[in-house]
Amino acid sequence: MTQFRFPEAILNWIDGQQLPAIGGEWFDKLNPANGKPLCRVARSRAADIERAVEAARQAQPAWADVPAVRRGEMLHDLVLGMKARRDEIATIVAAETGKSYASAKAETDGAIALGLFYASEGQRLYGRTTTSAVPHKYALTVRQPIGVAGLIIAANTPIANVAWKIFPALICGNTAVLKAAEDAPATAWIVGQIAQDVGLPRGILNIVQGFGEDAGAPLVAHPDVGVISFTGSTEVGRKIQRVAGERLARISLELGGKNPLVVCDDADLDHAAKWVLLSAFSNAGQRCASASRIIIFDSIYERFRDMLIERTRQLKVGPGDDDDFGPVINELQLTNMIAAIERARQRGAIILTGGGRMTDPAHRDGFYMQPTLIEGVDPHDEISECELFGPIAILYRVADYEEALRLANDSPYGLTACIHTRNINRAVHFCDKVQAGVAVVNGGTFGSEPHMPFGGRKQSGNGTREPGTEALDVYSELKDVYINIDPSAL
Ligand code: NAD
Repeated sequence: MTQFRFPEAILNWIDGQQLPAIGGEWFDKLNPANGKPLCRVARSRAADIERAVEAARQAQPAWADVPAVRRGEMLHDLVLGMKARRDEIATIVAAETGKSYASAKAETDGAIALGLFYASEGQRLYGRTTTSAVPHKYALTVRQPIGVAGLIIAANTPIANVAWKIFPALICGNTAVLKAAEDAPATAWIVGQIAQDVGLPRGILNIVQGFGEDAGAPLVAHPDVGVISFTGSTEVGRKIQRVAGERLARISLELGGKNPLVVCDDADLDHAAKWVLLSAFSNAGQRCASASRIIIFDSIYERFRDMLIERTRQLKVGPGDDDDFGPVINELQLTNMIAAIERARQRGAIILTGGGRMTDPAHRDGFYMQPTLIEGVDPHDEISECELFGPIAILYRVADYEEALRLANDSPYGLTACIHTRNINRAVHFCDKVQAGVAVVNGGTFGSEPHMPFGGRKQSGNGTREPGTEALDVYSELKDVYINIDPSAL
């Protein structure tokens, strides 16, 4: 690991300059692993957003005029800059989230892979050529930028979240204002620093720090922001849809999940248990794609439940590379999920293991939640339907495959889903019928690849998909071009 010193103050990147908030306000960012302040962060508000959007608006026409291949080369330089400072980025991600350095490095590599994929899109950005009913008429579609992209992200996988938004937005010829996650300010900041160092023209990528209501909401409401892409909770996604929808802006919403993992009677139980634990608890369960509903066939229920309890109790929780997962991102998150468990307990839920904060000397200063398994909960209980975003999974017992599929689909969310079975018929039927944007057989509910579209149905999103080439549809306008020629004029 490098001897990197965490910056004391995190400022905004606007028009190629590091600027404090206009109002001179700050907030403290705490280290979730020990509760101590890591740095202070510019608390930006509408005036800072105004300044950033104006910088992006001014820079956009020239950026759109740069040939897409050249834009790709410039973004490639940004990716190479990230690669060169991979250890520094991972150090920041680990410090801001409390996850291990090894996990942070893997996440950074994923962000780099995504950047490389999109830099290469500069050589494609395909439209279509097609036929016409009219003689001597040529028909094609071309991609054009929308303008200024407003990007808002969560902190759970911070460097991946930054990359997922900025690379597709920029390759399409938009300029961007990224509202960093308040719980991961330095991760976004260092990408701004690298963009500056590799010579990305000023105003192309603006990064504004601050809270959602203070800085996110004015970005969403700004009339000069043509596309809003948001990764975060369903509750905030709804607000964004209302505000940006009112002015008919393009909106992409990547929201929450309550993802089912079905374990059939014919599953390899050892393999299934491994994936349940990874899907429910890795990254402290702070994944939109984590498995929080484990649906188990009656005939194997007790056996599989006991396997899960035993293995869950063996999990190591802490910020080290040897630990299975770290803290949750902030204290409020921790107290909210403990309160939700307590309410469920009062309604009759059985806490099989965990259920509370870790208070031993090694953990008590950080925001550590015990890995938690729950049973005896109604599928329509509050805790079955609302996303907790922590290391908590609920076990449900079902009679057979039909009931498992019904329960998997009986949710307000539809992001990811997984089935463990050796029966090809069940596997394929499940992939066909499960109401989710991602269906997995014999694996986990999480995981994505840069070239694959990710997104959810129902309250998990608004139908868009990012990343993959599908994200180009979020960040570009299609224009039909018709060319009529006159054969007599040849
Ligand atoms: P959140 O919705 O509270 O915050 C996300 C971002 O939105 C933050 O940057 C926040 O400052 C901003 N924000 C808050 N209120 C806002 C407002 N009124 N206007 C504009 N911006 C506002 O979510 P969180 O708790 O930080 O993150 C966890 C959520 O993110 C979970 O629901 C999780 O499932 C979801 N998530 C989804 C995906 C996906 O790809 N579908 C990926 C990661 C996380």
